[in-house]
This record gives sequence, C-alpha cells and structure tokens, in this order.
Amino acid sequence: MEAGRIADTYAGYRARLVERLREQGIGDLAVLRAFGETPRHLFIPEALRERGYEDTALPIGRGQTISRPLTHAISLAALSLRGRERVLEVGTGSGYQAALLSHLVAQVFTIERLTQLADRAREGLARAGARNVTVLVGDGSLGWRPYAPYDAIVVSAAAPSVPRPLLDQLADGGRLLMPLGDRESQELVRITRRGSAFNDERLSAASFVPLVGRHGVSDVRYPMSDVRETPDPGHSDI
Ligand code: SAH
Repeated sequence: MEAGRIADTYAGYRARLVERLREQGIGDLAVLRAFGETPRHLFIPEALRERGYEDTALPIGRGQTISRPLTHAISLAALSLRGRERVLEVGTGSGYQAALLSHLVAQVFTIERLTQLADRAREGLARAGARNVTVLVGDGSLGWRPYAPYDAIVVSAAAPSVPRPLLDQLADGGRLLMPLGDRESQELVRITRRGSAFNDERLSAASFVPLVGRHGVSDVRYPMSDVRETPDPGHSDI
C-alpha cells in the first residue's frame, strides 16, 4: 500500500510538470506524454528526490547535473521525432533524457564517459522499465560507429564545435542537436543533414557542462581514471 501511495504522489507531481511545460510553450504531444510517463525521481540522488519534479537542474554527482525539464523538452521537441528512429545520445548523465527518448523513438544508444554515472543510469532505466535503451561507456565525442547511422543525435554537453565523427554518423535527413560555445556562453544548435550538406540553425541560449573528450574539451578535474575513487552516499539506492 505504501508503495502505491508514493507512486500516486509522484504521478500528481508529474501531471503538474507536464502542465507547466505546456504553459511554457511545449506543444509536442508525444513529448508531453513522455514527461507524463517518465519517473524523473528515479534519476535523482535520494537526498534530492523531493525536488525531483521541480523545473530546475540538479546535481547528480561527479560534478555533473541533470538538466531542467524545460531544457529536455525543448531539445526533444526540436528533434521532431516520429517514433521509428534510432537515436544516439552523448552524455547519459542521470539517464533521464534517455528514458524520455525511450518513449519517443524505436532505439536509444546513449554514451557516458563516467562509469559510475553510467551504472546508476542503467539502474534508473531498468527501474523505469526502459527496455530499448543501451548505455555505453566511452568518449561520446567519437560517436559510436557500430550502430551508425543515427536518425537523430542529441549531445547533452557543450563544446566549441560539433565533433566531426558525429556529423559522419548522422543519417541523411537526420538531425543533430548540440550546445555550442564555452563555459560562459552557449547556444543550442540544430544541424540537419542533406546528403553531404549540413544546415545549421540556432535555437536558444544554453548552459551545459563541457563535452570532455578527443573532439571536445580537455578537463583535468575529471579524468577517466578517477571515476570510481569517491563513493557518493546520496546515490545509494538508485
Ligand atoms: N541529459 C542528461 C544530462 C547530462 S549532463 C540527463 O538527463 O541527466 C552531461 C553528461 O555528459 C555528464 O554526465 C558528463 O559526464 C557527460 N560527458 C561529458 N563529456 C562526455 C563525452 N565525451 N562522452 C560521453 N559523455 C560525456
């Protein structure tokens, strides 16, 4: 009974989140439905779960953040997904956006460079019942060639320019979304591929953590080797 009561509480929060997104201009019904069906609290550290349905970014450990829901909603709506796509996400983070995507497309491949975050994201995705998502660990600035081409690529971390391998792995007619810029100032850009031509449109101002990798930026604070050193107590039951 207790579990049922808690589930209902979260369903109410989710409905209010969907309403807020609608008021903020999100009109894509499939995207709104995905927010209504995805348990965001499962992707948030235990200590912050109360705040799971606020429209704010929250820390998820390792100096990374889960974006605010409106940011995810704008990105997903901008991809104009139809349901049959194979999508690559670069920067799994909490796994929440991958869970949203799982309702919107046929297949999701998502890459995270930090093993600890990838492990937690896998657990959250399993608990959320997202079966069409594969979490990969590695440098997503190289893309993931074995499953290319992708109908859509969404990059959840910022760099000065779009990594060339990602453009190469985009299907003809495919869309790529990525924040471009430095730590201080970024713009969300949508790139559409037509044969060998890439058309880019600026969508909005953005604020993402850096894309750390071969075709991104270098960051001495979070080298790959340091991934498992510090346990993060707030995440114990995710
Ligand atoms: N959309 C995510 C938020 C991602 S935050 C969510 O729903 O929670 C950005 C993530 O990108 C971080 O977890 C960071 O570790 C990861 N990242 C940064 N550079 C990366 C790279 N080169 N390859 C894969 N992941 C990377």
